[in-house]
Amino acid sequence: MTATQERVATLREQLVAWRRHLHMHPELSFEEVQTSQYIADELGKMPGLTVTRPTKTSILAVLKGGKHGRTVLLRADIDALPITEENDFEFKSKNEGVMHACGHDGHTAILLGTAKLLSEQVQDVPGEIRMIFQHAEEFGPGGAEELVMDTPLMDGVDVVTGLHLNSQLPAGIVAVKPGAFMASPDMIELTIRGKGGHGAHPEETVDPIAVGAQVVTNLQHVVSRHVGAQDALVVTIARFHAGTTHNVIPDTAELMGTVRSFDPELRQRAPKLIERVIKGVCEAHGATYDLKYEFGYRPLINTDWVADILRDVALKEVGEEHFQVSKPTMGGEDFSAYLEKAPGAYFNVGSGSDDCDSKWPHHHPRFTIDEISLETGVRMMHAAALKLADPATPVPGQ
Ligand SMILES: [Zn+2]
Ligand SMILES: [Zn+2]
Repeated sequence: MTATQERVATLREQLVAWRRHLHMHPELSFEEVQTSQYIADELGKMPGLTVTRPTKTSILAVLKGGKHGRTVLLRADIDALPITEENDFEFKSKNEGVMHACGHDGHTAILLGTAKLLSEQVQDVPGEIRMIFQHAEEFGPGGAEELVMDTPLMDGVDVVTGLHLNSQLPAGIVAVKPGAFMASPDMIELTIRGKGGHGAHPEETVDPIAVGAQVVTNLQHVVSRHVGAQDALVVTIARFHAGTTHNVIPDTAELMGTVRSFDPELRQRAPKLIERVIKGVCEAHGATYDLKYEFGYRPLINTDWVADILRDVALKEVGEEHFQVSKPTMGGEDFSAYLEKAPGAYFNVGSGSDDCDSKWPHHHPRFTIDEISLETGVRMMHAAALKLADPATPVPGQ
């Protein structure tokens, strides 16, 4: 056992207690009132931290180390989801219809544990460690954007890191990837306007359902015939609402979908490609349309050298047998907002195991974590903070 491992092991019960308290009291994005108060109270028990509220429901803890070094930002997200929990352990959600089904309760416990370890060794810590307990990751425009744009959080930050627990990786695994890691989750809302009428006489109508069906099919040509196979793009129409009964052709059809990519250039090009198809199909059949195209979080592109340092930290902390190079995912994350302002990298810690029945997908009503992953998370965050803040760690351009 390394010295850090031993110190983390002494935190075991505390980490579980934090996580279970948070799990029992989940709150939705932008409404994390009790959650942020709880975090502030717990941080208040740790010496050497300056605790503030950059926004109504986010908490920032700053630790100024006793040695010269860089300024590092560590991030955890704290919000829950509008899901009714179907687990029946004694710490299941007490807020009906709200659930920590993404692991943010674990992220918060991990960052509290990291803060505790660092606060017990202030004199040995290089530089400045800022720990942000960020509100509203699950609901666009997201809490990160607000913190980055409207507060001085990122002023002077040299490098940023954060983690997401991942139920699809075995508990104890650390996975890091340089470069493109998570996609931009953009949204389309489309109304197709035709002309309603009797189902027996479609020739007197412009059928928005028939046109909409062709739009859905043709949009897949954007993916397969206008974008290179090496440039991942997903276009999914996930909602199609039209009509009221079996023999009435409605006036309109309403569609919603998501568009995802890693490449900022392709992302800028996608709206034009998509609208061209919609316009062409609608015009061909005499329908009109309204299209709302909303950009969500930016794609999450890890800085290569930061990912390399995290890999080295992981190899030292958890060993080669517990390390993986992550696969990119089409999911989105507002951690990308921090990366607009400073180099950084986001990584995964596995939380899935059969023992804890914790392999359910994220956002599922049965989602939970193997709590051993909390310790892996603290070891990684603690070691990464010290390594990134250490002026002896070589950094490109310095
Ligand atoms: Zn989530
Ligand atoms: Zn999440």
